[in-house]
Amino acid sequence: MKRIAVLTSGGDAPGMNAAVRAVVRKGLYEGMEVYGINYGYAGLVAGDIRKMHRRDVGDLISRGGTFLYSARYPEFATEEGQLKGIEQLKKFGIEGLVVIGGDGSYRGALALTKHGYPTIGLPGTIDNDIAGTDFCIGFDTAINTVLDSLDKIRDTATSHVRTFIVEVMGRNAGDIALWAGVAGGAEQIIIPEKEFDMSEVAEEIRKGRERGKKHTIIVLAEGVMKGNEFADKLYEYGDFHQRVTVLGHVQRGGSPTARDRVLASKFGATAVDMLKDEKGGLCLGLVNNQIVANDIIETLGKKKHMPDVSLYQLNKEISY
Ligand code: ADP
Repeated sequence: MKRIAVLTSGGDAPGMNAAVRAVVRKGLYEGMEVYGINYGYAGLVAGDIRKMHRRDVGDLISRGGTFLYSARYPEFATEEGQLKGIEQLKKFGIEGLVVIGGDGSYRGALALTKHGYPTIGLPGTIDNDIAGTDFCIGFDTAINTVLDSLDKIRDTATSHVRTFIVEVMGRNAGDIALWAGVAGGAEQIIIPEKEFDMSEVAEEIRKGRERGKKHTIIVLAEGVMKGNEFADKLYEYGDFHQRVTVLGHVQRGGSPTARDRVLASKFGATAVDMLKDEKGGLCLGLVNNQIVANDIIETLGKKKHMPDVSLYQLNKEISY
């Protein structure tokens, strides 16, 4: 292929810029022309497409968010929207597309694949909830952002002997809660993948207090329930001086960590290699520390993302 394009879609994630930069620079290095599409699938259908030069991606590796912008565009779930998108790509003579985003964005990439248009998906979401990869672009930065907050909350929790319920992102997946919880030494981690019993949560807090613990930090994945709801339910079992902190969108921002930048760079460059070899219908992943190319139809059809739930048991054994 000689002319390719890249877009970012869905929820933004730190490291998306590093991935776009890698696609642009590696594409140019290979003698291709690279186009950037603004506002995800909305910009694709609208033809908001421009040719990218080396300098267009300068000073971006360290920036969070996505300079190509992102948008929610439900119309892309319709065949009409998808065919319009392909029409635009053909109008510009673009032969292959790289899509960086989460599960919804992958559905769009899958639709393009089914229409026979060569598309490569790169996993970009702080939730880390994409099948076929151990890690997504943005996850490492997000857990470090959460960790920074947990460390600060710990200081104040100890001073006042309080119980902090820290609500973190993760609609369907407990990855952020698990990783940040273990790293931050949280006493309890509540995730969608594991059932929990509020009476046991209360009992654990009591036991901790008896052992002389000055604070309790509970990391709660938002997919289980909202932090305030959790605190109210916990009150039914006792007053533990509960306080709720909802970290919210700070988790999505910030300069990407080294790990996210390197991952994004590897994914971006590998996507270009695939398109150069006329390969499409793939989504890239990092499995056992190796970059892998999965069939997108198979991956979205059969595989389900599972976090490393061994961290849940580990935390029970070391953070009580
Ligand atoms: P994320 O990619 O972070 O999961 P969304 O779920 O909002 O975010 O999806 C991003 C975009 O992908 C949507 O706004 C839409 O344009 C496109 N998309 C989502 N689902 C589908 C689908 N089933 N078919 C085609 N395109 C889709």
